[in-house]
Amino acid sequence: MASSSQLRCNVMAEVADTGVSSRAERKALEKARILQRESERKIFRLVGRVLKKPEAERSEEEAAVLLLHTDTAKELSRRHVRSRVLKRKQEEVYDDAEGLQNKVRQLAVAIKQAHHVVVYTGAGISTAASIPDYRGPNGVWTQLQKGRIVNSSDLSKAEPTLTHMCIRMLHKEKMVNHVVSQNCDGLHMRSGLPRNALSELHGNMFIEVCTSCSPVRECVRLFDVTERTSLHRHGTGRRCSQCSGELRDTIVHFGERGTLEQPLNWRGAADAAERADVILCLGSSLKVLKKYACLWGMNRPASKRPKLYIVNLQWTPKDDLATVKINGKCDDVMSLLMEELDIQMPVYDRADDPIFTLATPLRPEEVDSHTREVIAPPDGEQEFSADTGGQEEDTAVQGGWFGRGYNKGRKKKKKAT
Ligand SMILES: [Zn+2]
Repeated sequence: MASSSQLRCNVMAEVADTGVSSRAERKALEKARILQRESERKIFRLVGRVLKKPEAERSEEEAAVLLLHTDTAKELSRRHVRSRVLKRKQEEVYDDAEGLQNKVRQLAVAIKQAHHVVVYTGAGISTAASIPDYRGPNGVWTQLQKGRIVNSSDLSKAEPTLTHMCIRMLHKEKMVNHVVSQNCDGLHMRSGLPRNALSELHGNMFIEVCTSCSPVRECVRLFDVTERTSLHRHGTGRRCSQCSGELRDTIVHFGERGTLEQPLNWRGAADAAERADVILCLGSSLKVLKKYACLWGMNRPASKRPKLYIVNLQWTPKDDLATVKINGKCDDVMSLLMEELDIQMPVYDRADDPIFTLATPLRPEEVDSHTREVIAPPDGEQEFSADTGGQEEDTAVQGGWFGRGYNKGRKKKKKAT
């Protein structure tokens, strides 16, 4: 290795001396680089093989290899540790029944004693509604990274889960003051949680807005409005009935700063966090939420910060700061919690889904402006849906907010036609 890098230095010095880089010299330099890379790879492989063997089984020659290449050996050991840690962080861990019960009991006591409880939710609370989470073993992110196609067919069919309904009930009982969600699936709104008690930080797939109107005009729809939108392009293709301005979706894409007052409601989120003495995180990896400094009360002295309760199967970056980390499924934890608090378990009833009263009907000329499934009203009457005429459409992720931004920063090769 030393000899090849020496060679490279010599070649580079020569190039610098003459000030002229002829074709032959450039080639020699390139060759030296390739040789060096090759020899480095060889050493890595060799050292890697030796390290895999138990120490006692290594021959004298192998031990000598390690001594000769201590830096490489150290680097390989570091990589090994890193990958082990990474693997551990991705593992789903479950508390046993008794452990779970004990932890939920502590959570119930904390909620009863608290003055201001804020709930932060992530994709993990919607998995029971057949919406996959992002970073779980079957999450959107994980699947896309493995090069698999993500099926999004059931998105509009999803209904609020038991967890959504329990949160809504806890708010009604004045045990939860505010909910901050990363989810765009609109399920908190559909559970009946009042809009002013909700911050949908990354938008709501059922809401389109006109930002040319002042104040911003909001249209709730009974279908996913993001069909025609794409990364950093928010126009939904429909127009404002007042000013004819283009309507846009409310989804905050990766790398964007969401500024819409509703449904993002950052002010509500920040106010709630400032007053919070208990924060309950449900089904979020917290990898994105941790970046929003105003949500964590870190400007307060450590003893005055809100107590943190985290419910998630995987590791989160806030685990070390948590008063209790509960390794369980959100629905399981919430049913136990309702039992502890002696609150009746609520059930979702489509007849009470506020989306039907919030929604603005499409104008006749807009009826064909989308092909997404429409949420059926409770009386069973199928509202007109611009269906695809029996064509089974490919349900892989295309438009829409799902998995949006995954390809950001990746090179897109356009095929020449
Ligand atoms: Zn308008």
